[in-house]
Amino acid sequence: MTAKLIKGKEIREEILAEIKAEVDRIREEHGVVPGLVTILVGEDPASVSYVTGKIKTAHSLGFKEVQDNQPVNISEKELLALIEKYNKDDTIHGILVQLPLPDHIDEKKVINAIDPDKDVDGFHPINAGRLVIGGSEVKFPPNTPAGIHELLIRSGVKIEGAEVVVVGRSNLVGKPIAIMLLQKEPHANATVTVVHTRTRNLASHCKRADILIVAAGTPGLVKPEWIKSGACVIDVGVNRVGEKISEKTGKKVAILKGDVDFEAAKEIAGWITPVPGGVGPMTITMLMRNTLNSLKFQLGIK
Ligand code: NAP
Repeated sequence: MTAKLIKGKEIREEILAEIKAEVDRIREEHGVVPGLVTILVGEDPASVSYVTGKIKTAHSLGFKEVQDNQPVNISEKELLALIEKYNKDDTIHGILVQLPLPDHIDEKKVINAIDPDKDVDGFHPINAGRLVIGGSEVKFPPNTPAGIHELLIRSGVKIEGAEVVVVGRSNLVGKPIAIMLLQKEPHANATVTVVHTRTRNLASHCKRADILIVAAGTPGLVKPEWIKSGACVIDVGVNRVGEKISEKTGKKVAILKGDVDFEAAKEIAGWITPVPGGVGPMTITMLMRNTLNSLKFQLGIK
């Protein structure tokens, strides 16, 4: 069988159009727009590129966007004071501090300093707790898991009652997506297993999965024979395995591979995400949705 491709880029465009329409409506009816600040410490090229992508997307949606770049030697105290300034700014609905931070700054302290009602990354312990409780408690689901959930829903994959196996237990991807699909709610109600490096017989777990979500960061970890026929395979892994010259720009670009052997897996699976172009485009999209929702919470509208 040849799997249906879950095209993250197309689904992203669909969701961004929905967000833009809502932003336009709220601007007309309430005279306000969502405000997003991204705080970048230092000049790490990957972080610069992520932040640029976020700001560009926010701009294209008509958000107020502020890119606050700080030198690598900013003190922890100064950074905390900067966050406090944006916590108090009513025109800012989302505060994003680009991670990782330099070693002299305690990441946990910084995340905890963000007002949980502006924590559009969903990393604050209060938002992690809200996610676990589920239902109307959830304010800001973390972006990559929310993107995975949206891909499943919009592709028509049946989650209710499905055997879901999540490879990886990070706070960023594995744990939150497992919790989201486990909830007693529509588009959830799955039976979820989470596997990791200490799991005995990884293959036997993966083989049971109707939905296999792989977020390990190990290229080619999931072998084609571990995939159940017709399963939905969501490959979150992004691994740089070399470089090539881009046909479009003539510049050197990274060759990216997922955690699944895509070419073989697509002949067995029912649905599959490509890498790149699957989960990747959804992360920034969900950040935008959280920022819009933050404004809606402030206004008390649906
Ligand atoms: P992480 O914090 O390194 O966690 C990886 C998890 O996978 C850990 O729980 C680890 O188990 C497990 N694991 C690693 N190798 C394994 C193996 N051989 N067998 C079984 N389990 C294994 O990584 P992450 O932040 O969750 O990211 C995972 C991947 O997703 C990375 O490639 C990352 O680049 C990608 N990612 C993509 C996006 C996006 O597309 N937008 C966003 C976030 C992450 P232990 O806990 O036992 O060590």
